[in-house]
Amino acid sequence: MDSSYIFTPPEQASVAVRGTDKRYAVSRIFCVGRNYAGHAREMGSDPDREPPFYFSKPAQALVPSGSTVPYPPATQNYHYEMELVVALGAPVFRVSPDVARAAIWGYAPGLDMTRRDLQAEAKAAGRPWDVAKGFEQSAVIGELVRVSECGPLNSGAITLAVNGVEKQRGDLSEMIWNVSEIIANLSQMFHLRPGDLIYTGTPEGVGALKPGDQVRGDIAGLGAISLTVGQPE
Ligand code: MN
Repeated sequence: MDSSYIFTPPEQASVAVRGTDKRYAVSRIFCVGRNYAGHAREMGSDPDREPPFYFSKPAQALVPSGSTVPYPPATQNYHYEMELVVALGAPVFRVSPDVARAAIWGYAPGLDMTRRDLQAEAKAAGRPWDVAKGFEQSAVIGELVRVSECGPLNSGAITLAVNGVEKQRGDLSEMIWNVSEIIANLSQMFHLRPGDLIYTGTPEGVGALKPGDQVRGDIAGLGAISLTVGQPE
C-alpha cells in the first residue's frame, strides 16, 4: 500500500473500450435532464422552453453492462433511463458547438438508473437530486466505441426492453440539445477534460423495475447494454 494515503484509495473508475485492452479512465459524470421532448412531456414539463440543465453522478457509481445490481435501498420506484453516453477526448472551455464536436472521443450505451420516488420528493421540495440519481451502481455503461470507428452518432434508433418487451424507442436525432451543443453549453461552466462522461438524456417510456427483471438497451451503430435487477440487499 502507498504509505502517502491513510487508507487504500478506491480503484480508478474506468470503462472498457471496444477493440483494445486499454480502458478509459473516468473522472466526472455529467448527466443532462430532459433532452427528448417525449420524456420532458411525460415528466410534466414543456420541452420547448427549457434550456439544458445538468446533474452529476460520482465516477464510483459506474457499473459495467452485464452486471446484476441489487434492487437499491430507500426506493419503491427504481427506474431505467436508456441514454447515449459521450466520452470526451480533449480539453474544452467556453467553446462553440463546432469546436466541441472535435472533442468527442467516443460513445457508449448507458443507463441512468433513478430512484424516481426520491426524485419526485426532491423536485417538490426544491432539493438536490443526489440521492435520486447519484447512488451506488446508478451509472450503467457498455463498451466505449471510438468516434473514429463508429462515426458521429447524430441519428439512429435508441431503444430499451424489459424482459423482452420494448419500453423505450426514440431516435438520437430527437434530442432537444444535440451532443455538440451539450458539450459547448457545459463548457461555458466547466473546464471539460478527457475522462469526463456525459449521459445525454433519455427518450420517453421510462418505467419501474423489480427484482428479476432483465433490461436490454440498444443504440443503432453502437451496440447493446444489459442489466439484471437482483434482490434487495
Ligand atoms: Mn437521464
